[in-house]
Order: sequence, then structure tokens, then C-alpha cells
Amino acid sequence: MKKYLLPETGQFYKANLHSHSTVSDGTLSPAEMKALYKSRGYAVLACTDHEIMVPHHDLTDEDFVMLTGFELGFDEGWRPNFLHARVCDLCMIALDPENDVQPCFNRTYFSDEKRALIHFDETEPDFIKEYNADCINEAIRIAREKGFFVTYNHPKWSLERYEQYTKYKGMNAMEICNYSSFIDGYDEYNGGVYDDLLRQGKRIFAIGTDDNHNRRDPKGRMWDSFGAFTMIKADSLDYRSITNALVKGNFYASQGPEIHGLWLEDDVLHVECSPADKVVCTVDQRRCMSRYGENGAPATHVTFELKPDDVYFRVTVIDGHGLHADTNAYFTDEVL
Ligand SMILES: [Zn+2]
Repeated sequence: MKKYLLPETGQFYKANLHSHSTVSDGTLSPAEMKALYKSRGYAVLACTDHEIMVPHHDLTDEDFVMLTGFELGFDEGWRPNFLHARVCDLCMIALDPENDVQPCFNRTYFSDEKRALIHFDETEPDFIKEYNADCINEAIRIAREKGFFVTYNHPKWSLERYEQYTKYKGMNAMEICNYSSFIDGYDEYNGGVYDDLLRQGKRIFAIGTDDNHNRRDPKGRMWDSFGAFTMIKADSLDYRSITNALVKGNFYASQGPEIHGLWLEDDVLHVECSPADKVVCTVDQRRCMSRYGENGAPATHVTFELKPDDVYFRVTVIDGHGLHADTNAYFTDEVL
């Protein structure tokens, strides 16, 4: 019997879950950003401006959903140490479209003008940010409790190392690719960081995002849109169906390749994908597996035999240009 890891039914919707508009330091207005992404086949965009959460439901239509979110940053001290200061950046996306109350808010960080744009709980004390795991974990806990999907962003740009990121608890997902930082030259394809967290027992998903600011030439190589995305499989294109799929992990991350199907038949994992140069199955043990096409043809359907003592497994599809698509990790005690 087939057990589908990506749901058999529903439709894939292309999403960018991390973006910046003129509400913070981006170049495009939320409406311009929506028009741009919609024109390139995207159906979902989370506007995650720095420190400031403003819903853009007016931009949602029958073919496009704007998710409400923001990016919360913890830094070690930008001044005078910008080039060396470590950072932890988290995106927080509201699961409920009615939820417009920004968690972890601090009144003193904003001008009156900006504060007027934000809804926050007047009865709560200011959240004071400090760059340490306790404070960051408290922010994650509060955000999850208040109904947000929390993602861990661009560890390489942030200069975070194993000893920092393995202390964070409760994040829903991490950026396996952050395109803005990737095109700047950072090694922001984070398969290794993802395995560090998984091998530590953290049950966490992987997303691809642009983190676009759109400051550069749209025709140039440094344009930071359309390089990494998340394909969300949902029953329909509406806010709650999309966020339900996020919470369940019904998605994969990509820089280009597509994953059409992912299922188990007993202990055999099947992957159907766009033409691939190589398909890899990573497990927690020293037992990684790779598959290639036969007779020079690309691979489009491969299988991997799993073992019950593989704690988790995940699949990476690599195309002829070296671009990756990554599934979430699945834990054998849940799916085998
Ligand atoms: Zn960002």
C-alpha cells in the first residue's frame, strides 16, 4: 500500500515565504511585489518586513494569497561591530488571517509613525531582545503560542555556528536556501545545517525563500527574486489551506527542480521528479544513497530502501545545472 509523504491529492502552489517591501527596507511596494511574483507563476507571498507586521489582505485574490508576517532580528550589537556581529533572524507568519497582532513587540523600537501601523497587545510588556538562546527561544515560544509559523533564516549570513543554532528550540522550519544571501556569495545552501539540527533530534522542516529586497537591476545576476521557493501542496488556494499545509509539512523547497511525488511502499521510498542529474537520500547514519539516470538519460523516478533504524530520511533532487530541490525530513517512527 502506498503511503503518501507529499499528499496525493491537492495542488502545488509556488510560494515565497520571506520578502521585504517598502514597509521596511525593500524597494517595491507590497502591491508591486505581488504583481511581480504573480507574473512569474507564484500563488503565495509572505511579506515579512523587518520588525513590522502589516497585513496585506487587500492584495489577496482568487489566484493569489498574501500571508501576514514579519522578520524579527536578534543581533550581538551592530555598532561598532557590523562585520563581525552574529545575528539570529526569524520569520513569523500568522496561521490565521484574522491574526494581526504582532507578537514580541517593543514600543520603544519604533517611531510614532511606524507604531501606528502595528497592532500589538497593549497589556503586554515590551519584549526586550537580546542575542542569546534563552531570549530567542522565548520569542519562538511566544510566537508559536500566539499562532505563528516560525522559520530560522540564513545561518551563514548570520555568522551563526553549530554552538548557536543547535540551542534554538521550537522553530517550525529553517531556510535550506536563502537566495538573497546566496547570490551575494554566502554558502547559503544549508543542507549541512539542516542535518545538524535533525541529527540532534529536532523535527524541523526546510523551506526555500528569496528574502528579496529588489534593490538591483532586474535583468542582472544580482536581482534577488526567483531563486529559491517553496512548493506547498494544499487542497485549495486560500489562506487557511496554505497555512494548514505549512504546519503539516506538505511542501518542499527548491531552487528550480520539481518533485512531483513522494511516497512509501512498505519500506521503499519512491521519488518522482523533473529530469535530474542525481537524486540523493540522506539519513541520520553514514548510509547516504544516490541514484542517477540510466544510459545517459536523466532520472525521473527513483527508489530508496529505508531501514527502521534510520531515524530520519530526506531527499535532494539535483538537476543538470546543479540546482537543488529538497524535501522535508521524515522520521521513520512516524511514517514507517
Ligand atoms: Zn529578510
